[in-house]
Amino acid sequence: MSALEQLIEALRRLPGVGQKSAQRMAYHLLQHDREGAQRLSAALAAAAQQVQHCQRCHTFSEAALCPVCLDATRDAKLLCVVETPADQAALERTGSYRGYYFVLQGRVSPLDGISTKDIGVAELLERASDGLVEEVILATSFTAEGEATAHVVGEVLRARGLRSTRLARGVPVGSELEYVDLGTIAHALVDRR
Ligand SMILES: [Zn+2]
Repeated sequence: MSALEQLIEALRRLPGVGQKSAQRMAYHLLQHDREGAQRLSAALAAAAQQVQHCQRCHTFSEAALCPVCLDATRDAKLLCVVETPADQAALERTGSYRGYYFVLQGRVSPLDGISTKDIGVAELLERASDGLVEEVILATSFTAEGEATAHVVGEVLRARGLRSTRLARGVPVGSELEYVDLGTIAHALVDRR
């Protein structure tokens, strides 16, 4: 494969990018924006190398612990469970949540053979059993798999004597949290049950 073909193939891996868009981007960068191409290349290399997962909540972090986990002014009684670092960032942007987070490694999907074991529920249990957490807020997506995940994680927590709540309805059914507007997420947080 030529370097140009390899670039197009690499761009096609991005979500929502098909053959045509990948081609357009590659030709644009090479024809009109060589400097942008170099910047993109350097930024990708740096991010892929430097961005790791926070050891405590598993969101993206460039240090062992992320800024939220390091913030001692947050409310240790609240632990919010999300599916991805993008969802954690979406909740954080609402500015209406002051507790800590735990990012699962995805969501349960029986069809794909993904169970609670695969998404880090054992670690969540350990984290939620620190003696400080009083409420675990299940902020998984309002998709079928997100709902199933909230259900099974809630049961596991209850079996351990831990209290869990779910984001309120109002978030459109079928939505990925990261694409929901901030006001809606903020309301769903306040009205959780
Ligand atoms: Zn963290």
